[in-house]
Amino acid sequence: MATITPPVRVRFAPSPTGYLHIGGVRTALFNWLFARHYGGQFILRVEDTDEKRFVVGAADDMMWSLRWIGIDWDEGPDVGGPYGPYVQSDRHERGIYNEYVADLLRKGLAYKSFTTPEELEQMRAEAESRGIKAFRFRGPERDWTPEQIAEAEAQGKPYTIRLKVPLEGMTRFHDLIRGGEQIIINHADLYDIVLVKSSGMPLYHLAHLIDDRMMRITHVIRGEEWVPSTPYHILLYKAFGWEPPIFAHVPNILRQDGRGKLSKRKDDVATNRFWERGYLPEAMFNYLSLQGWSYDDHTELMTRDEIVERFTIERVQPSPARWNPDKLKDMNGIYVRKFTSDELADRIAPFLVQAGLISDPPADEELAYLRRLTPMIHERVEELSEAPELLEFFFREVGVAEDVALRYEPVMLIQKKMDAARTAAGLRAAYEGLSALDAWQVEPLEATLRALAAEQGLKPGQLFGAIRVAITGRTVAPPLFDTLNGLGRERSLKRIEIAIAALEQTSAG
Ligand code: GLU
Repeated sequence: MATITPPVRVRFAPSPTGYLHIGGVRTALFNWLFARHYGGQFILRVEDTDEKRFVVGAADDMMWSLRWIGIDWDEGPDVGGPYGPYVQSDRHERGIYNEYVADLLRKGLAYKSFTTPEELEQMRAEAESRGIKAFRFRGPERDWTPEQIAEAEAQGKPYTIRLKVPLEGMTRFHDLIRGGEQIIINHADLYDIVLVKSSGMPLYHLAHLIDDRMMRITHVIRGEEWVPSTPYHILLYKAFGWEPPIFAHVPNILRQDGRGKLSKRKDDVATNRFWERGYLPEAMFNYLSLQGWSYDDHTELMTRDEIVERFTIERVQPSPARWNPDKLKDMNGIYVRKFTSDELADRIAPFLVQAGLISDPPADEELAYLRRLTPMIHERVEELSEAPELLEFFFREVGVAEDVALRYEPVMLIQKKMDAARTAAGLRAAYEGLSALDAWQVEPLEATLRALAAEQGLKPGQLFGAIRVAITGRTVAPPLFDTLNGLGRERSLKRIEIAIAALEQTSAG
């Protein structure tokens, strides 16, 4: 088994076919950790030769997602590097792949195939009718003479270029994960893959391999779905006369119930969705590092630096990882609680901006106000996106009028064994008592209101419940005195006044 000798060079090579799947970030992260652990380089390359699946803007979104998690690259499309360009379509335009294709054709290790898709289908159907379950295409052109090929070309027939996979024998390769296990594939189970499309565009199998070679990639760390393709790659390396890199195929991530892989269709796996839902990049980084890798059998919370220091490919397990949204959420909560409340306020601010609760960018007073409120929700928030809902009544108008953002029904003010008149009287007393208060702080607020309830012959809950609805528009809210304190004197008194007026109208009518 190959040992790891620096300097290592690894790459993440996504195809911009949509948003970045969280499993892709995990693969990128393992590459990045490997590079950082061994003091090597991590390269980002965009593999966009599949024109049909290309999505505009996807590459930018992917780069955003990677950076958000904290993955940076030493070479890549936007930062450049000595082996650029780092986008395959640009490389194709520069003709980088041509000489390699010509080399394979010249050596007779690849061939031009004029078989049309219809003919191929027919061959498949015929094979199936003969009882052959898995049809493996081997082009008739493998055996054509140069004259036959020249003639077809002269007729202007379109062709693809295929790899001439040997009919007999086997290919073997080692995988660094699985303890360097040897994987052996019979050539009879392979087919002649397309290397270059009829449009002249090189396909993944060819382009990525030439790029890996030219970019001096030492280790190919990628998802295990690429294991079946690896024998073709080994054959291609041989065809070029190149030493293959070392392969490490990282395990799949299964859905929580273990039934199948995390899927774009069934699961919320777009990386940018985790941002939207209020996940912290620190928590994502930590959680993703544990999807297929572990430090020991119990350590879970680790900083970036600790993970970089501890990450080794030997501890990446071959068995699939299991996605657990509840655990991720718990871990996010742990990271949320590690922040000071001012730090948390700064992280929450963009969510409040998005919900339209504060201006974009937030004004200094808005941020100061938010910082005062954040301690109240610090223990309760697990996903930052929960914050706007929890804090909404601090920012929006609360009242009984039709056009008020947070409108409540006046009857909500009336607590058990109370009526409108008694509630109004209680609130009026509260209004007066609070207006006269020197220090608007939790303890004096509480002392004043408890004394007032007693004076009015009310149970604390009867008065406090009415005040809670008056100032929040809800029956359930954070602790009352903290809420009053956070809201401030002016807003609190104004809301109590609105409630009194509403009750007076109710009892009058
Ligand atoms: N472009 C391939 C993908 O989208 C890269 C596979 C590899 O890492 O070799 O997954």
